[in-house]
Amino acid sequence: MTVTGSISPEEIGFALIHEHVFLSILADYLDTNRVLDDPESAYIELMHYQKSGGVTLVDQTNRGLEQDPIAVREIAKRTGLNIVLGCGWYREPFYDPSLYRTKTNDIADQMIRDLNEGIDKTGVRAGIIGELGAHETWVSPVEERVLRAGARAHLETGVTIATHGLFAPVGLKQIDILLEEGVNPDRVIVGHAHDYPYHDYHIEIAKRGAFVSFDGMQDENQFLLQRDLMNIKKIIQAGFIDKLLLSHDVCTNSHYAMNGGFGYNFIISRLYPYLQEIGLSKEQFHKIMVENPRNALTGGN
Ligand SMILES: [Zn+2]
Repeated sequence: MTVTGSISPEEIGFALIHEHVFLSILADYLDTNRVLDDPESAYIELMHYQKSGGVTLVDQTNRGLEQDPIAVREIAKRTGLNIVLGCGWYREPFYDPSLYRTKTNDIADQMIRDLNEGIDKTGVRAGIIGELGAHETWVSPVEERVLRAGARAHLETGVTIATHGLFAPVGLKQIDILLEEGVNPDRVIVGHAHDYPYHDYHIEIAKRGAFVSFDGMQDENQFLLQRDLMNIKKIIQAGFIDKLLLSHDVCTNSHYAMNGGFGYNFIISRLYPYLQEIGLSKEQFHKIMVENPRNALTGGN
């Protein structure tokens, strides 16, 4: 389900699984770099990706990040990209205080409405549940309820769940909660897995059947790029190429290409030579960027 309507799995094509188009990440601290709200700039940035052959982009912006479903639908129409939009709640500092007083099933019902009817009466339907986050290195009680609500919305709608967690193996705790609720692990994407840069963590996620999302791909910091490449190589050598997803997580103005950043275009236009150095074929790159996101979004394989 994209913001402009449903498409067939074959239409997904080259896809970025974790990006943001319009958002405001101000709940942590005030910094105008962390606000993306200019449609003209977004258009220019997204067109670099579209002109390089990009077809689909999953915008994991959801509640707490000042989602703007109408603006996302407009830019999807202008760029011709398939844009899939998130639902649910981001992480605890971004939650509306009412969540502490809302039943888990009522949180789930809100997600189900966003997925089946449209977000807040805009008619724009969400197509992914997430990113559902853990703010700390553990899952807080209210974050656990949002995850359980996400699981229930998934069971009702069949839509994939994507998580957020940083600097800790918190993705495994998130998987545990989702599996307790009966979610099929192959419909779970563990976000920011590269940020806890230990192979054992990545392999454990894959062994449990979830997707390992390396969604901070960039070429500004060579240390981080080389570390990600080594971890990608190890995942593939361990036999889990099917579970690997790559994206940029563009979420600040400094990420934009017009400001000297990697933009939405690094993976499609400049990543392959680096992957070639670690022994990947063009076919494997195609698998990671076309087949894997399609399977993650649709449950196919
Ligand atoms: Zn994100």
